[in-house]
Amino acid sequence: MLLGNIYPDYDERKIGISSQLAIKAISKAVGINKEKVVQEWKSLGDLGKVAEKLTKNKKQSTLQSHILTTEKILENLRKLPALEGKGTVDKKIALITELLTSASPVEALYLVRTLIGDLRIGIQVSTIRESMAHAFFKNEKEEAQKIQGAIDKANDLAAIFDIVKKGKTSGLGKVKVEIGKPIKAMLAQKAKTIKEGFEAVGKPCAIEYKYDGFRLIIHKKGNNIILFTRRLENVTKQFPEVADYIRKYVNADSAILDSEAVGFDKKTKEYKPFQSISQRIKRKYDIEKLQEELPIEINVFDILYYNGKSLLDEHFKKRTELIKKIIESHPYKIIHSKQIITDDEKKAEDFYKKALKDRQEGVMMKNLDAVYNPGSRVGHMLKIKPEERDFDLVITGGEYGKGKRSGWISSFILSCRDKDKFLEIGKVGTGFKEKKEEGVSFEELTEKVKPLITEEKGKNVKIKPKIVVSVTYQEIQKSPTYSSGFALRFPRFTALRPDRSASDIATLTEIKKDFGKQKRNWKYG
Ligand code: ATP
Repeated sequence: MLLGNIYPDYDERKIGISSQLAIKAISKAVGINKEKVVQEWKSLGDLGKVAEKLTKNKKQSTLQSHILTTEKILENLRKLPALEGKGTVDKKIALITELLTSASPVEALYLVRTLIGDLRIGIQVSTIRESMAHAFFKNEKEEAQKIQGAIDKANDLAAIFDIVKKGKTSGLGKVKVEIGKPIKAMLAQKAKTIKEGFEAVGKPCAIEYKYDGFRLIIHKKGNNIILFTRRLENVTKQFPEVADYIRKYVNADSAILDSEAVGFDKKTKEYKPFQSISQRIKRKYDIEKLQEELPIEINVFDILYYNGKSLLDEHFKKRTELIKKIIESHPYKIIHSKQIITDDEKKAEDFYKKALKDRQEGVMMKNLDAVYNPGSRVGHMLKIKPEERDFDLVITGGEYGKGKRSGWISSFILSCRDKDKFLEIGKVGTGFKEKKEEGVSFEELTEKVKPLITEEKGKNVKIKPKIVVSVTYQEIQKSPTYSSGFALRFPRFTALRPDRSASDIATLTEIKKDFGKQKRNWKYG
């Protein structure tokens, strides 16, 4: 609950209460009409604070006092996502009102923020990890690392808390890779050249296409298939054809595969950039039509689990051999990622060129003896791509447009991340289309951010940091205008990243580093 969740993050059951519903419940609980609640909301800008204030006023008059336990709150909140059908709204309001009428003002504040998914207490998984290590162990640093390892494998903080509260991390060994529970993906560091890559990962090494698609981690247990994105979202329903390919072409009772899904043109069969298929990740309707229009190919590059056994500690060479053994390659459906194993720089360079010609981003170089480290950005798997300047950033604000763009937000404020804070780094208003049919339009993005607006002042709005976008730019400049201290020159929107979360975006450290590099390049030409 410290993270504002009632189930592990990957679980699809969410609290999902809209501000409107929360307003109704507050109004009922404190016995004040809805309009008054909305009025307070306008002046305080935070529904939690509204609930706190109104509860305080009410408590003074009724002197009612109940004890609200965490257990009771969890019990009621967990009933919410299960409700369906007729009378759902009333039942939801009843469950919430029951809690609110017993809540003290400060409890009402956090309860309401939890309900609408905007807890704002600045707590991250890392904060909880450090607290657990501090609370239960003497050797905090070392134990915190073990806890993180278990989190990356199981992604279930509550389950891990149950183990470590006994004061021993030995129990964490019991945290096993399980089919159906998402594992965090292993991430790559960068190298500039093939030569540098060989120096870092050793010779010979595996070199693979770095496909320009999105990460898909595939779980198989018999005929049951579950698909997770890199941010551990369950997207099984959106890709029924993938489940089909796995059932048909993967010879295993159980398995977890790591792969990149890449779009291709249904006529020419040429690969297409990620951007052109990104809408498939979130789409909940017309699935079949979309599947037909925007086909994808699954490129499998790793296997983490096979027939009841975790392979995280196996060497990459063995894992990659197993892929070839158990997966039947069917181009435009599912294939083994294009790979060579070589110690020859010329062959490696040729392969890199071929990948670019095939419209992919570049190559990955992988150490053959390395294990799989879930959730880490490792030095034994490197990405190499042509120098290009782009960042993933999150939208935190915007400004409504004028003239033909009035009614839409036509300029979006972008932020990078500094630990758990988001710092502004610029505004983007180019790269969007005027019409919906042509790509991502102002209108579409405005509709996306509207439910996330937390404050409105004239034409300016503040937006909850949820929507991640890729932008290219010409240069990073120092700037007093933005809270990061930097500004992007000529930022241009290139893609929505529904597969990324705000924790995946560029950090201030990375931006400072790129700023430094840029200066060096000018100096030395
Ligand atoms: P970038 O922004 O440079 O694309 P990234 O943020 O996507 O990087 P990284 O871990 O830095 O993530 O780069 C590796 C990503 O590349 C993986 O997350 C995966 O989605 C993708 N990828 C494509 N082909 C491969 C491959 N053969 N092996 C591993 N990852 C691959």
